[in-house]
Amino acid sequence: MVGLWSDLSVPRRGWELIDVEDLGCDESDFKLCEACGKKHVRYVHHLRHPSYAGTVGVGCVCGAKMQHDEGAEYIGRELEKRLVRRDRRRRTWLTRKWALSSKGNVKMKAEGWLFILCNRGRFWEAFLKPADADDFKYKARFATEAEAKLALFDVAFPNKIAVGAGQ
Ligand SMILES: [Zn+2]
Repeated sequence: MVGLWSDLSVPRRGWELIDVEDLGCDESDFKLCEACGKKHVRYVHHLRHPSYAGTVGVGCVCGAKMQHDEGAEYIGRELEKRLVRRDRRRRTWLTRKWALSSKGNVKMKAEGWLFILCNRGRFWEAFLKPADADDFKYKARFATEAEAKLALFDVAFPNKIAVGAGQ
């Protein structure tokens, strides 16, 4: 694939970062940087420009070059670091201590969320709600306990962080 830079009508500078997304550790899911067309990236930085239709997905180095604002630090670096920390937490998520209720349900409170898993026999039902609210944010069924736990993690801590989103 040839990158955007081979098209001379594409603006070189003044791009704005929208978000950074973690495609996961499987290299076959990595995407080719749309700017240079050379590097396969795991952490995709999405940027937009007022004189370009749509968004582009690029690596951190190209993202920083495209923003090219001498006065401002490229925030994409920090967002990528946050996603690296998130991935580390996800890898130990299943080994964390979950409380077992008398009914056989599994629960855990973490970072403002309440995670609940109910063993329904043939499947697991997973619930997520803010620890201080009554409304459920998410509810779904899974074949295994591990799948259910990871799904709840991904809803509570998404693999994509937008510029300006809280910690
Ligand atoms: Zn690139």
